[in-house]
This record gives sequence, C-alpha cells and structure tokens, in this order.
Amino acid sequence: MYEYLNDRVDINSILPHISKFTYKHELDNVSFNLCSLRLNTFKFKGLDCVCCGRKGTHFRIQRTKNSNENYHMGLWSDDDIQMTKDHIIPKSFGGADNLNNMQTMCDRCNSKKSNKISIYDILKGEFKENYEVIFN
Ligand SMILES: [Zn+2]
Repeated sequence: MYEYLNDRVDINSILPHISKFTYKHELDNVSFNLCSLRLNTFKFKGLDCVCCGRKGTHFRIQRTKNSNENYHMGLWSDDDIQMTKDHIIPKSFGGADNLNNMQTMCDRCNSKKSNKISIYDILKGEFKENYEVIFN
C-alpha cells in the first residue's frame, strides 16, 4: 500500500518542526511540508489513540506505492497501525476542519467508529437507520 523512503524516523526529530505556518523541513534530501492539520493534531492533541491508547511511536516517510505523489510523514505504532486525525464532531454534523475539533485516533479505531451510533447520529435523527443496521 505504501512505499517508504525511511520507515523509522525518530519522533523527536520531527515534532519540534511541526508548525501551524508554512514551513519546509529537509530530511534525507527530501523537503517536507510540516504544517498540515494532520501533523498539527499529532503535535498538539497527542500521539496516542484517544480510544484504545495505542501509541504513535515513529514517523515514516511514505507515499502510495507506485505513485508519483510527494512523500509525506505518516505516524505509526509499533504494531504497524497508522495513526489518523479524527473529527470530534463529525463534518456531517457541521464539525469544523480545525485543530479544536481534531483528535488522534488509530486507523483501527477510526474504521470501527464509522459503524457505531454516536450522539451525533441520534441528534441528526439517523438513529433508527443505524439501529436497524446494528441489530439485523
Ligand atoms: Zn485505537
């Protein structure tokens, strides 16, 4: 799924350089944008999954396999699960695309979350639909 330029980058060599402002960082002769909302979520909201506590332990310099896209930094756990940014209030409920509404969640919990009823589904009146899905 990914190809890596470096699959074990020390967190402490990257974290201090993550910024909310445009900033290019050089590593292994590649220039990185370290101001993304995703990276800022890891820096300011924490490296660990808010659901299961899985720890983000290292960065990888990665891109989709056989693509020409630019390499980017991915945060990974020691058991090989990628960490993601998650919207606390879902976008579909009007949740903002900014740091206040972000939390760190591992990919495993994030994909489980999409199948569960949340308070936001109930508030949106979509409870019935989801209820049937779960109890079928
Ligand atoms: Zn998790």
